[in-house]
Amino acid sequence: MSFADLGLSDELLKTVTDAGYTEPTPIQASAIPSVLMMRDIIGIAQTGTGKTAAFVLPMIDILAHGRSRARMPRSLILEPTRELAAQVAENFEKYGAGQKLSMALLIGGVSMGDQIKALEKGVDVLIATPGRLMDLFQRGNILLTGCSMLVIDEADRMLDMGFIPDIEEICTKLPKQRQTLLFSATMPPPIKKLADKFLENPKTIEV
Ligand code: AMP
Repeated sequence: MSFADLGLSDELLKTVTDAGYTEPTPIQASAIPSVLMMRDIIGIAQTGTGKTAAFVLPMIDILAHGRSRARMPRSLILEPTRELAAQVAENFEKYGAGQKLSMALLIGGVSMGDQIKALEKGVDVLIATPGRLMDLFQRGNILLTGCSMLVIDEADRMLDMGFIPDIEEICTKLPKQRQTLLFSATMPPPIKKLADKFLENPKTIEV
């Protein structure tokens, strides 16, 4: 399987070549075509399997080729920790370079001022930890009604950290008509339950 078989745009094919990737990892080969076909996905995969690119690459193509609703975020990526959120943001910037997509990194431990400014300007993608996202939401700084793609990453770590109630609440703020991708290294019952509740006819990929 080569990257060229996955349905990505020529621009992103160039990006992965420039990144030095010669072939997709198994999670990328299975997930990317399905994400581009707008399916919900459960990806059972550890960190290190290339799962970040498995959702960031097709997300960039969908955002770059879709029509933008003015000033409203169209995708939301939830991460359990600041460090993971920052890493995904770095990946997004690397893979999305030159695509004119904007992003806000919404994590705790830094002042809300800059995050609020970014939100006011309007961004395409939010990369957030659940706590900070809920804070900003409750202060009225975020509208999630244009978010038609949701990624819940590292779901089992979210469970360990007590974030499931926040995630459930966040899910109810997003439009019902959306694409949801859930990644987890393991599938304990509460994560299975979360997936049953918030994903529609998901394709399960285990690597
Ligand atoms: P992740 O599992 O998303 O944390 O990715 C682990 C590492 O693999 C990152 O440093 C990526 O840059 C790298 N990577 C992702 N996809 C590929 C690929 N197809 N070929 C080689 N390296 C990759």
